[in-house]
Amino acid sequence: MRRRSAATRTLLVALCALLAGCIESFLNEVEPVPLPAVSHASRAVHEDALVVDLHADSLLFRDDLTRRVGRGHVDLPRLREGGVGLQVFAVVTRVYAGTNIDRTEASGLDLVTLLGCMGLRRACGSGPFGRLEEQALLLAENVERDGHLVWIRESGDLVRLREQRAADPETIGVLLAVEGAHAFEGDPADLERAFDLGVRMVGLAHFFDNAYAGSAHGVEKGGLTELGRGTLRRMEELGIAVDLAHLSPAAIDEVLAIATRPVFVSHGGAKGTCDNARTLSDDHLRAIAANGGVVGIGFWETAVCGTAPRDVARAIRYVADLVGDEHVALGSDYDGATTVGFDVSALPALTQALLDERLSREAVTRILGSNALRVLAATLPQTAEGAESPQ
Ligand SMILES: [Zn+2]
Repeated sequence: MRRRSAATRTLLVALCALLAGCIESFLNEVEPVPLPAVSHASRAVHEDALVVDLHADSLLFRDDLTRRVGRGHVDLPRLREGGVGLQVFAVVTRVYAGTNIDRTEASGLDLVTLLGCMGLRRACGSGPFGRLEEQALLLAENVERDGHLVWIRESGDLVRLREQRAADPETIGVLLAVEGAHAFEGDPADLERAFDLGVRMVGLAHFFDNAYAGSAHGVEKGGLTELGRGTLRRMEELGIAVDLAHLSPAAIDEVLAIATRPVFVSHGGAKGTCDNARTLSDDHLRAIAANGGVVGIGFWETAVCGTAPRDVARAIRYVADLVGDEHVALGSDYDGATTVGFDVSALPALTQALLDERLSREAVTRILGSNALRVLAATLPQTAEGAESPQ
């Protein structure tokens, strides 16, 4: 999140009410940074990889992702230009005015409702699950409109994605995620409905403590509730990946103690290069590696204390040095009310920065996508084709 006061932020958003694009331009800025020149060899590494980005919030802001627009960070034409092969789109259902990374109360004006009522979304007063249904429908419409997307719902879809990309380079995989289990409104049946809508990754908490888990940015910052433990068990049974991003340290400990599958941190950073409430301690990085999981490193200031490709690459290098390069991946948080130094079309510059950090070509290929694909293959509902290696 940007470091503006809640009042200033709310006022500026309200002033933008007449122009939806203005709201997005304000929330999802690019402040360009110098990018390294991408060598022929680095571009080849990038193009040969199946590049996975574990987190973007674009569905909150735009109905039609098939058109290239001059704002925000992600649309399908820019994903293709940036060489992305699989994009996780997360659904955000509630963001309170006053949201900050240190102590956010679960009360007050909901900015997602405000955006909806200002015309940015189709419905004004939808509750959290209504927002989830709305954004799942938007993804379905984009899949239909674009004609080159593979919606990843089971392990065999990963195989299909590789095959289809080999035949048609325009092909991109998309996976639907939820940021905060409060989207299910305390009703276990809503988790089943979310699965039916295509949701395959869930972060138990977002910026505030909810009925499932404590948030790293909440008031109590507690562990899992009974409802949260039951939800985690059911997610594993269904084949929904667990996302530790935004969870309180206590909740991360509890999830790792009981998880039977590898987990994701879809977007975050390491305290070793950027120490704040949004980033992971060395102990948590080691525990996630021991679980077989993967940490997606973000591209914004609070994740890596900078917005240049080399800042992201240094954080990735740190995690790789600490726990091994099999446990780190990309988690941009594009379009997540973030200011970044480069949009997704410039992603090969990050591959250059990773190689400049003296990571091997094989390590970079794992970081760009293979690691995330490995965890997805171990998590998603298994299909007959899923028995083949998606790597
Ligand atoms: Zn987030």
